[in-house]
Amino acid sequence: MPLPFSKLVVASGNPGKLRELALLLDPLGIELEPQSALGVPEAEEPHVTFVENALAKARNAARHTGLPALADDSGILVDALGGAPGANSARYAGEPRSDERNNRKLIAALQGKAERAAHYVCVIVVVRHTLDPTPLIAEGEWHGEIVSEPRGHGGFGYDPCFLLPESGLTAAQLPLEQKNRLSHRARALAALIERLRSL
Ligand code: IMP
Repeated sequence: MPLPFSKLVVASGNPGKLRELALLLDPLGIELEPQSALGVPEAEEPHVTFVENALAKARNAARHTGLPALADDSGILVDALGGAPGANSARYAGEPRSDERNNRKLIAALQGKAERAAHYVCVIVVVRHTLDPTPLIAEGEWHGEIVSEPRGHGGFGYDPCFLLPESGLTAAQLPLEQKNRLSHRARALAALIERLRSL
């Protein structure tokens, strides 16, 4: 059956994310338009779950454009902290958002703790229209550990703290194309493509 849309507005202005999405969705004949190009104001992300925040962003983009919309939300969950910072990852150390302060707060919170397991989560949502009762939802996880000293300068966010025990490298030390193959976002995107192909 043909897909119910050939164009999606993307609720993100991040050029890296848009390039990655465009590359993977092009073979399905789906064209992407960033919401910034259509004058969509940023949505609030007040929720405690990734799926609610992603839905809020996708609905906001659909409401302002009348187009089907895609949004993602992501963050890191640390076992020893009961899953914090979770959906609050971007603002873990408060406003204004700062990766450096977030990383310092995370390392301090885990000082002296033997339990270092953590995982990134990404949820991607597609709504066909604002009131879509059956949004498409895809999720990806990436498991690792939190180091006691940040390492590496690649990636963004918590990557200098996120160790991949199989390679001994942090996500900030991985070549970008390797991160883009392994990451929670890549896995969520692969799951979304499966979902789209099965429509
Ligand atoms: P957003 O989903 O792009 O709003 O990301 C939420 C926050 O989660 C970011 O500001 C980062 O702190 C964290 N985060 C999400 N994905 C990654 C990643 O791939 N590397 C590092 N930090 C991430």
